Amino acid sequence: MIDRFGLGGVALHRMEQGDRVAELFGVKYPLVQAGMIWCSGWELASAVSNAGGLGIIGAGSMYPEILRAHIRKCKAATHRPFAVNVPMLYPNIEEHMAVIQEEGVPIVFTSAGNPAAWTGRLKAAGITVVHVVSSVKFARKAEDAGVDAVVAEGFEAGGHNGREETTTLVLIPMVRDAVRIPVIAAGGIADGRAMLAAMVLGADGVQIGSRFVCSVESSAHAAFKQRVAEAGEGETLLTLKELAPVRLLRNKFFTDVQQAYASGAKTDDLKALLGRARAKRGMFEGDLEEGELEIGQVSGRINDILPAATIVENILREYREALEQSRSRIWQGQ
Ligand code: NDP
Ligand code: NDP
Repeated sequence: MIDRFGLGGVALHRMEQGDRVAELFGVKYPLVQAGMIWCSGWELASAVSNAGGLGIIGAGSMYPEILRAHIRKCKAATHRPFAVNVPMLYPNIEEHMAVIQEEGVPIVFTSAGNPAAWTGRLKAAGITVVHVVSSVKFARKAEDAGVDAVVAEGFEAGGHNGREETTTLVLIPMVRDAVRIPVIAAGGIADGRAMLAAMVLGADGVQIGSRFVCSVESSAHAAFKQRVAEAGEGETLLTLKELAPVRLLRNKFFTDVQQAYASGAKTDDLKALLGRARAKRGMFEGDLEEGELEIGQVSGRINDILPAATIVENILREYREALEQSRSRIWQGQ
């Protein structure tokens, strides 16, 4: 952390919220593009980093040598910092972490696992480490493990989700009050208004996923992007809690899961129904019926597919407008 004011720990409290995250990552805006399996390869990550945010390569869907290729392409496409997200459930995590260190990736976001497992080793290699959490308990655990920041991800988020179902509105102030490290809000944020709201709740920055699935540079299949852009209110639901809670768009696969529940399916039946590579089938291969379509609740507010740089610009413009409007529109408490 840069001590801009020469005041040690006090400086942290004087520094503006967004500055803590932007300075931690060496980027212009406190805006992070989420690492998402099948959707965020090098093209999206480099486009977001070039636009002033922090782009993330989602390693969960990549074999180690594919990850290496994406990191190399990302380095060639941007001179700005970028990160790699590694879900800790990943089967070849040792190989992923070796690739990340060999390729000199400056920042790693870990998720879906114990932060104590890798934080020390990554920090010793000079890597900035952020862990994704969905509760205060895990935020504290991540801070104790020595991470540089946490992403606090609420119930609205797509893909894997917390078992407690805590919404972003409830989670952010609770995590803010529980830890001293920077807090990056996620879940339900796709525009500048929501970004401002998250900052008012105490976040130091935001992580945005679904909005970037509907970007030109996302590696999601064109049919999945179009489906997300067309999705309306109430079209995603959290399911498969016995395996790993996941938020999905309604489709034939989702209906099959619901019917399995209705007929009293056990965990093993659900596992068999899920099978293997359903997420790839839906999000990467564009099978909108049989595939698993992971996306956030906020997909109901996303209606177009735009270049990543335009998405970043729009969010920043909306943020500034919302901030300005809040001075005249919002009740002043008198
Ligand atoms: P290519 O289109 O040549 O793809 C390079 C490799 O990356 C291909 O094997 C491609 O799979 C795979 N690939 C692309 N995007 C993803 C993704 N999001 N998740 C998993 N695999 C992905 O050029 P790229 O540089 O765009 O991609 C290089 C490789 O990276 C591709 O093989 C691609 O499949 C893979 N890739 C993997 C991503 C992932 O998240 N796992 C994301 C983006 C690319 P394929 O040959 O089937 O197209
Ligand atoms: P599945 O078991 O259904 O399928 C594995 C998929 O990952 C396949 O499509 C496979 O590609 C690809 N893959 C990439 N690397 C490997 C590897 N080393 N060994 C086996 N498969 C690999 O898993 P999911 O698709 O549900 O999840 C894949 C990963 O993504 C997991 O690590 C999971 O924890 C993570 N994940 C993270 C989410 C998040 O929100 N952070 C959400 C969902 C999953 P191929 O078919 O080409 O072999």
